[in-house]
Amino acid sequence: MTKYVYDFHEGNKDMKDLLGGKGANLAEMTNMGLPVPPGFTITTEACLAYLAQGGAPPEMLGEAGEHLVRLQDAMGKVLGDPEDPLLVSVRSGAKFSMPGMMDTVLNLGLNDGSVNGLAKQTGGDVRFARDAYRRFVQMFGKIVMDVPGDAFEHALDEAKERKGPGAQDTDLDAEDLAAVIERFREIYREHTGEDFPQDPKEQLNLAIAAVFRSWNGKRARDYRRQNKISDDLGTAVNVQAMVFGNRGDDSGTGVAFTRDPATGENVPYGDYLPNAQGEDVVAGIRNTLPLAELQKLDPVSYGELIQVMHTLEMHYRDMCDIEITIEKGKLWILQTRIGKRTAFGEWVMAHDMLNESLIDEDTALLRVDANRLEELFKRTVQAAGATPIARGLNASPGAATGKVVFSADEAEAWAKGGERVILVRRETTPDDYHGMIAAQGILTSAGGTNSHAAVVARGEGIPAVCGADQIKLDLASRAFTANGTKVVEGDVVTIDGFTGNVYVGELPLEDSVLEKARAGDAAARETRIWKAFQRLMAHADARRRLRVRANADTPDQSTNARERGAEGIGLCRTEHMFLGQERVAAVQQMILAETPEEEQAAYDVLLPLQRDDFVGIFRAMSGLPVTVRLLDPPLHEFLPNQVDLAVQVALGRERGEDVSEQERLLRKVNEMHEANPMLGLRGVRLGIVKPGLYAMQVRAIVEAAATVKKEGLDPQVEIMIPLVATKGELEQMRAELEPVAREILEREGVELDHLEWGTMIEVPRAAVTAGEIAEVADFFSFGTNDLTQMGFGFSRDDIGKFVGMYEERKLVPANPFVTVDRPGIGRLMRLAVEEGKAGNPALHLGICGEHGGDPASVTFCHEVGLDYVSCSPFRVETARLAAGQAVIGSAESASK
Ligand code: PEP
Ligand code: MG
Repeated sequence: MTKYVYDFHEGNKDMKDLLGGKGANLAEMTNMGLPVPPGFTITTEACLAYLAQGGAPPEMLGEAGEHLVRLQDAMGKVLGDPEDPLLVSVRSGAKFSMPGMMDTVLNLGLNDGSVNGLAKQTGGDVRFARDAYRRFVQMFGKIVMDVPGDAFEHALDEAKERKGPGAQDTDLDAEDLAAVIERFREIYREHTGEDFPQDPKEQLNLAIAAVFRSWNGKRARDYRRQNKISDDLGTAVNVQAMVFGNRGDDSGTGVAFTRDPATGENVPYGDYLPNAQGEDVVAGIRNTLPLAELQKLDPVSYGELIQVMHTLEMHYRDMCDIEITIEKGKLWILQTRIGKRTAFGEWVMAHDMLNESLIDEDTALLRVDANRLEELFKRTVQAAGATPIARGLNASPGAATGKVVFSADEAEAWAKGGERVILVRRETTPDDYHGMIAAQGILTSAGGTNSHAAVVARGEGIPAVCGADQIKLDLASRAFTANGTKVVEGDVVTIDGFTGNVYVGELPLEDSVLEKARAGDAAARETRIWKAFQRLMAHADARRRLRVRANADTPDQSTNARERGAEGIGLCRTEHMFLGQERVAAVQQMILAETPEEEQAAYDVLLPLQRDDFVGIFRAMSGLPVTVRLLDPPLHEFLPNQVDLAVQVALGRERGEDVSEQERLLRKVNEMHEANPMLGLRGVRLGIVKPGLYAMQVRAIVEAAATVKKEGLDPQVEIMIPLVATKGELEQMRAELEPVAREILEREGVELDHLEWGTMIEVPRAAVTAGEIAEVADFFSFGTNDLTQMGFGFSRDDIGKFVGMYEERKLVPANPFVTVDRPGIGRLMRLAVEEGKAGNPALHLGICGEHGGDPASVTFCHEVGLDYVSCSPFRVETARLAAGQAVIGSAESASK
């Protein structure tokens, strides 16, 4: 029989699939002897069964009942007992942390009777007991029964207003709270048509079901989509004895990190809120104190907490994030997990922990996220001379500038329209998630470093300033004022997530420390982050099997790529060399040529220009391979737009001007027009119908190589024919072009150590006939942009219109133009690798589509046995890191 419920004593940290992250870690801490309030966990399997059947499996209800009895026995109290009640919290907890995205119910077990029992337990604190009851009715109504939260908030505000101007929650006395509870119960009845349930078991069953359902709530689904978490996991539910942080000044609640999650520094870090319940910290309702203040308020609990933090870090060998409650001077640990951290913090921590011998080098390397590496190269704001209009907490690093918007929907809409926006809110809630991820930066006027806005921003790598309380929002007029400055919707502000400063207008942004260090800045090279980066990247380089090249079209790009560690150019797209006024004229002349002589004259203009470009690239990459692709795009891309030209001709004629030149051009444009240019006269097909073109390019490449060779450098040349679909295409092209190269080398008296001929594999037919194509190729480079386009039949230029919906509906696991689609396009690649190598054992293999810089795709390339990946120069470090991690990852999975 399936076991659906586990006592905290029965689980451990490795049971996250079944117990969720929270449940597994509560079990682990319970078994470590840490002060965890007792409880039990209902499994993710129960959730999946609930969602599949539309109701709780009866065995689960039975088991939960038995565990409740055990919990009551352990606590010596009965749920909802009018004399001495046990109260419980009911919390969600999936395998992966989804902060605030699912539901929680606290103080469960309160009713009209047990509220008096709670008052007795607390030494006659009737106010406290009633406050707990009103919170419970509110939370239960909103979370379990979908009563609009505003209705309760509004009633609470009215009660405060009745109390007097500026009254806070804490000013409401026991009598006031009795009235609030009465009002809340009315609201509950109005919206649900039922009385607030008094039976604690009914409360519990309803709450468990609501937490299960929250797995499929909108914000949970949005979060999973953004964070690539499967919808099939379900959430566990943790039922745990309540402890109260709001029982006076000797009580409180907090969130502690064993190291600073922003900077990575090895110091305890966190927030503490005296006399409050846990949710108050996350909601950012009141401003918190730095954790260090707890040392003054309650040195004994603080000392115990520091000890617990140390124990947990040694046990998990990682930075832990801990939720605590202190009830009347007694410390309780409510949760721990491996703490989220900034991209910056994760490098510093991994490196420190390596130096502290807490972890080994491979583990350190796996601790850093290749997908976030680019963040470290983010800019900071250059604020010298500028006066901030407000200052808040430096909640998430990075600088951002953009137009102010005041709602998540607007942030999303404006960003879709191409605007850069800063989302300004009092505080954010999980419902704002879609707008937050669309914004360049987030600015809130309330809330602490662990408020929702801060946690989400850090997780997503969005710069954020939180709790800037000089900002006074006036949502009705879509504006805010800060220290006398008014900012309205659409005005530009700059926020600095490193300092917490907020500026009006667009300030210049500055390169990151890593960028500066890379450029040789001595001070930047002394920073911890640079040292961490150097050491871990060296380890990635030592571990990786894949080489990393860059896609670069100019000498400057090549130099940049080489500085970032590129070990060659995997794709030089020569079409970019056909742009620029002088060149376009020659290209047009070539296209319009009526005679071979006219065509040759155009080649004569283009040849020296191309040759100079190649000389620069070969110099920059001396000693490393450079794959040059012969012209790929359809020629009409170099001609004026058909419609524009037709209009010009018509207008000119009307004005009686001589338009014969434009007419000639228009005739040619019409002649060359293709219904589907992506599948038209491009790639190798161009080489076949215009043999002079490829011959000119080969001449330019080989002459450039000869020049560079004569300078004493070492050009390594790979000539790539694009869009090949048949062996014959490549064979014929080589037969035409190799003699051209040979003749030049003979004429120049130069030998090249490395001159290879190969093709891109970007047409599905080429992939499935790779065995025979390989017989005439020295190398393959997977052009996964086109291979994805033609494999799926998705236009790569238009996919943006619907790929979001495809991802949402799980029709594709991820955008296939970003991450290689393993079962389809990946299978074509695997086949081409296997059959290509069988056809030519010396064949070498790479990838040059955008996927070459995507960590998940790099892992795939490692697995299928490519020799290198090639990506944009800015992603070279990402690819190096991912390639190193792929080796360790595959070693780990092999040993499992
Ligand atoms: C490709 O198709 O993957 C490729 C690299 O070529 P392009 O993007 O230039 O079509
Ligand atoms: Mg292509």
